[in-house]
Amino acid sequence: MDELGIKRQEYFGEFSKLVETHLDESLAETNRNVAEKLARSRNVYAQRYSALEDAQIEIVAKSVEANYPVDRYERILEDCPACGRHGLLSGSFEVEWEVDYEDDGSISGGYPVVTMTASNFSCFFCDLILEGALELQAADLPTTVNIEDPDPADFYDPPDEYS
Ligand SMILES: [Zn+2]
Repeated sequence: MDELGIKRQEYFGEFSKLVETHLDESLAETNRNVAEKLARSRNVYAQRYSALEDAQIEIVAKSVEANYPVDRYERILEDCPACGRHGLLSGSFEVEWEVDYEDDGSISGGYPVVTMTASNFSCFFCDLILEGALELQAADLPTTVNIEDPDPADFYDPPDEYS
């Protein structure tokens, strides 16, 4: 039995089997719902764009993508699991300050590490909407994203001891 299983056993006692079955069922249900959403969105995409030439699609795609309310840390573009175009992955971000050291071991400064926790995905091309970490996972989308090259000026000043 895995560690989680043992904890469940301790916590739920004789009901652990019931709880486990229920968890498995709700996960299976999420997977089923997401599979249906993906299939529906593939149809939407096919109906919308099948009449267009590739070159036309690229032009349309540019204008559609321009409508995403992209934000550097909370709303980023991600490949859509249904249609393959760019969709918007959104959530909330956390900042942690890491410390830089000099060769002699003294602290020379700090830099921010920004992690976005994703909670929603929406695609303007195929109307796919996924809500919650479970649905994102079921569609193979990331639920945590390291934001590359965050700008320190976007956040609070590093604490005094780092400067
Ligand atoms: Zn899509």
